[in-house]
Amino acid sequence: MNGSPLEAMVAAIKQAENILILTHIHPDGDALGSQLGLGEILRGLGKQVCLYGEAEVSHLYDFLPGATEITIGLPEPSAFDCAIALDCGDAYRLGTEMAALLAVKPFLVIDHHAGHQEFGDLRWIDPGRASTGEMVYDLAVALGAEVYPAAAYCLYTAVVSDTGSFKYSSTSADTFRVARELILKGVKPAEVAGKLFDNYTMPRLRLFQRVLESLQLLADGRIALISAPRRLFDETGAAPQDTEGFINYPRALACVQAAVFLKEAEPGMVSVSMRSKGSSCDVSLVAAKFGGGGHRNAAGFKRRDTTIEQLSAELLRELETVVAHC
Ligand code: 5GP
Ligand code: MN
Repeated sequence: MNGSPLEAMVAAIKQAENILILTHIHPDGDALGSQLGLGEILRGLGKQVCLYGEAEVSHLYDFLPGATEITIGLPEPSAFDCAIALDCGDAYRLGTEMAALLAVKPFLVIDHHAGHQEFGDLRWIDPGRASTGEMVYDLAVALGAEVYPAAAYCLYTAVVSDTGSFKYSSTSADTFRVARELILKGVKPAEVAGKLFDNYTMPRLRLFQRVLESLQLLADGRIALISAPRRLFDETGAAPQDTEGFINYPRALACVQAAVFLKEAEPGMVSVSMRSKGSSCDVSLVAAKFGGGGHRNAAGFKRRDTTIEQLSAELLRELETVVAHC
């Protein structure tokens, strides 16, 4: 009777008719690609679906098919006989409506975050997978669903986003298997790469220039730190989500083991992104100490009522300990 988590997902989805599909707040390419892709796949099976998001999709991802159809504003939970949360490592990352959303039963969770904090009724959690997008593809196959071009495009975007174009250490044979299948369904890798990476506006490029000027190298060049105080957004006209991907540049320095980006997303609220390389440098341990989470090589957290200067001093003490073991 006790099948695999994937089999349990399939059984629950087959029984449901009105499905609410969720992802984490401030969704990235994996989150949105998985949400939109699964929406298309389940519609193809004749399900009624609603894709909920707390805020409008960032302009960086509005090229995704269906991005404009995400419902902003809380849907009535009693209208659904199933909810599926994607790429969400912790219930609180469902956002301000967490409690109401969790009231939908059964509540299914599909995620790949190391250090996933369990929630919901049925879970398929696999930290060995590089993206939630590739898990959604395997779910579609297990459901016997057709993956039409729009869904394939969304899922491929998810995979490319979370693997840094098949570069990060999480990239596996499964990643390439799924990418191959999606390409065979008509996805053009160059087109997705263009939309994902060649998407700068002038304010975003100006912000990037200013953020790079903040670069500091610490711990004999093994830690790189960049920051974006509030005034940079005002001065360049860029939006907080325009910093997507900036952290990859200090990470790209050959000498660097761990890179940090501190961003004052709102006045007095600093959000921290961390990246590391290899298997011995685990930045999710540092994030956890500050109440955040993520993966070994990509983690983050947020703190209110602080400044970039205060937080970076505290954070560097913890990071130096981690980097000392790399
Ligand atoms: P990013 O730096 O791209 O925002 O996030 C990197 C990873 O850290 C993501 O996998 C994300 O789930 C995790 N992460 C970022 N911010 C937070 C946070 O505030 N809380 C938790 N639990 N995880 C976070
Ligand atoms: Mn992900």
